[in-house]
Amino acid sequence: MLVVMRNDATEEQCGAVADVIRSMGYSAERVPGAQRIAICVLGNKSRVDSSNIETMDGVKEVIHVTKAYKLVSREAKENSIITVGGCSFGDKTIPVIAGPCAVEDRELFFEIAEVVKELGAVMLRGGAYKPRTSPYAFQGLGIEGLKILAEARDRTGLPVCTEVMDTDTIDVVSEYADVIQIGARNMHNFSLLRKVGRQSRPVLLKRGLSATINEMLMAAEYIISEGNWNVILCERGIRTFEEQTRNTLDLSLIPIIHEVSHLPVIVDPSHAVGRRESVPPMARAAVAAGADGLMVEVHTNPRIALSDGPQSLEPEDFEHLMDEVRMIATAIGRTVQ
Ligand code: PEP
Ligand code: MN
Repeated sequence: MLVVMRNDATEEQCGAVADVIRSMGYSAERVPGAQRIAICVLGNKSRVDSSNIETMDGVKEVIHVTKAYKLVSREAKENSIITVGGCSFGDKTIPVIAGPCAVEDRELFFEIAEVVKELGAVMLRGGAYKPRTSPYAFQGLGIEGLKILAEARDRTGLPVCTEVMDTDTIDVVSEYADVIQIGARNMHNFSLLRKVGRQSRPVLLKRGLSATINEMLMAAEYIISEGNWNVILCERGIRTFEEQTRNTLDLSLIPIIHEVSHLPVIVDPSHAVGRRESVPPMARAAVAAGADGLMVEVHTNPRIALSDGPQSLEPEDFEHLMDEVRMIATAIGRTVQ
């Protein structure tokens, strides 16, 4: 249940509503928002009897949220716009995050960072802790990789996004990163989700390998329920019976997310398709379908990449893609940041 307060409601009136909610055995979560003051009731197993709250001073209306997810729902909050280091997700702009799959080498990462910045990326990506299928494959540079990311941020002025794989490394990753990525394989790792919900960096939450849209929204609910409202959802393809692509990109999730949730949703075509030839068409389609941003793997020499070389764009492909994406954005009344 959501208690929407009048715009002129006082702090005391909000506090009194929260106290009544708690006295009924539920918890009360203040919903941040510029346009509206609202308090979400959490912890109820069935419909809450709202009669005594409806008549309290300062209360405008009570909305019963019937879905399993509450805090991520559109009823709970107006559109979330998540700003980080000068770029924003969830408004009319389309930020493009780019970089290699993994931070492999200091000079190489700086080279790629400068190139993607020049071509229009507004955030850098690169894994320092890599979730690899084989334990013998390159696992990332760890803390060394985080330091390279931070140095690349200082050099380029662009914020950096990198994955956290376990609860042990959350503190160090959030010390160096501007956005913390939860990878597809960890979307169901509820203790990790709770813990990133307790730190202050925005979270990029990728869709699990076989997660439904509802399961993804519930994963976001875990993060927000711990107090971190800055969650960016990311579609990166799901497992289907198709074998010619690495995954199947499910763009049909975009309008559904926009309908049911206030959270922005971006698309990573690289991990969806697994081959560079298919990345630009899927990126174009994502923007046309209303994606609030893109994440694309780019490498200056994909043949020597230690992970995901076959799906990494070369700089000239990325340049061409950025031109196309700008045109599509304009056609739908948006701009590439
Ligand atoms: C990544 O973005 O580096 C990554 C591993 O992606 P995913 O979790 O979507 O497979
Ligand atoms: Mn990758």
